[in-house]
Amino acid sequence: MNGLEDADLQYFLSSYGLILSSFPEKGRGLVSTRDFSPGDIIISQDPYVCAPSTSCCDGCFSRGKLKMCTSCQMTQYCGSTCQKSQWKLHRLECQALIGLSEDRKKMLTPTVRLMARLLLKKKLQDDNTIPTTSDDNYDVLLALVSHMADIDENKLVLYAQMANLVKLVLPLMEINIKEVIENFSKMACNAHTICDSELMPLGTGIYPVISIINHSCLPNCVLVFEGRKAVLRAVKHITRGTEVSITYIETALTTTERKKLLKEQYFFDCTCHCCNTPHTVFLKGALEDNQDIILNGYRCKAKPCHGVLHHDSANNIYRCKVCGSTREKHSIDQINSKIKLLSERASRCVSSKDYLEAKDLYKIVEHLQLKIYNPLSICLMKTQEDIMKILIALNDWEGALIYCRLTIPIYQRVYPAIHPLVGLQYYTCGKLEWLLRQAGEALQSYTKAIDILRITHGTTTPFMRELLLKIEEANADARLLQRKTALLQ
Ligand SMILES: [Zn+2]
Ligand SMILES: [Zn+2]
Ligand SMILES: [Zn+2]
Ligand SMILES: [Zn+2]
Repeated sequence: MNGLEDADLQYFLSSYGLILSSFPEKGRGLVSTRDFSPGDIIISQDPYVCAPSTSCCDGCFSRGKLKMCTSCQMTQYCGSTCQKSQWKLHRLECQALIGLSEDRKKMLTPTVRLMARLLLKKKLQDDNTIPTTSDDNYDVLLALVSHMADIDENKLVLYAQMANLVKLVLPLMEINIKEVIENFSKMACNAHTICDSELMPLGTGIYPVISIINHSCLPNCVLVFEGRKAVLRAVKHITRGTEVSITYIETALTTTERKKLLKEQYFFDCTCHCCNTPHTVFLKGALEDNQDIILNGYRCKAKPCHGVLHHDSANNIYRCKVCGSTREKHSIDQINSKIKLLSERASRCVSSKDYLEAKDLYKIVEHLQLKIYNPLSICLMKTQEDIMKILIALNDWEGALIYCRLTIPIYQRVYPAIHPLVGLQYYTCGKLEWLLRQAGEALQSYTKAIDILRITHGTTTPFMRELLLKIEEANADARLLQRKTALLQ
């Protein structure tokens, strides 16, 4: 990016209380030039281009009643307003799609479609059919890192194949294969998954300004989506001069796993506070054992000891730090391989919607995991989460509520206090309690949900308005129940 465009971007950012800065270790990033409080929207941005990956409106990413584009039969809209809003770009895309054979159409993955849209948007901005602004232009995208030097041969071959496919989709356009390959590489580490309010993925978008924000495993901001718009909210007090950060990955992992994932997918060594001090952490005011050992370590077998086991590599055994008792490595390995086999079978059952069989298998997995893992371990949380979802699919609210309640203490340990997933888990808990006519409990869970979600999601979206209504309903019901009980006494 040249100096002038950088100046344009700086001017744009300054209106949001942000400044583009350079960091010796990690390159560019955004720093606040004023204070932000939890819940404040720092910046919101529409994507440069985006593409749905599931059945939703191409304009607003809503689901519900949709109509196919009659010409290409490949994009869907909730109504004419959304169709019109996308027409300039889709007109060109539609022409290209009509010309494709059915076989080719099947090869169009969301990523390939996103790239085709990217090239079409650039063309439309070059001809001034779509206006260019300081945050909505191809140059902002050009400035993003591509990590071309870091990607392996197999990936390069794949990107080249995808680039050729893009060329086939857009035969009338002059396409620079090398540039498209580089753009695929940029997409891999810069594109964002667009999710609905409950964090279910809907598609992918490129948000060049949001992409400048660096990662932290304990970030001070959260990125949520309102339709296709990315909204960055502060989750902590951010004082002037602080770098704003989001997390690029699901953080319910151990430090080693997080570092590995970030290195493989985003090509950097995380040096955030969490990664730099993994051995001892402050939890609930006390200096505790290594968080990672609690999250994926094995437990002491001796009752009632709750100690975690440390690997004694010299003797190839695990030893409890609290009571000194030991467990053989091979017995733990045996249980682990059983768990792996059963989990794979259970997940296949879920795919084929055989929920009853899946439930039974996951319950055996849970039983085995409880034998060797700490009750607060991540793998146990994931199994319990799977069981909860299966029970919801089976309309077993009572069973689902038990599992939902089991996961909450682990959520609280794995995620920071203000995290959308923690809020959403309380929300699920509240919905189940409400279905089971436990109005008082539902009210408590909804309130905990709203305390978190009002910061991460704001209060004005349809999803949040619905939650606020549910609280009112639960509140009225709980009061009614109180009055009834008072009368009976
Ligand atoms: Zn729409
Ligand atoms: Zn069309
Ligand atoms: Zn980190
Ligand atoms: Zn012990």
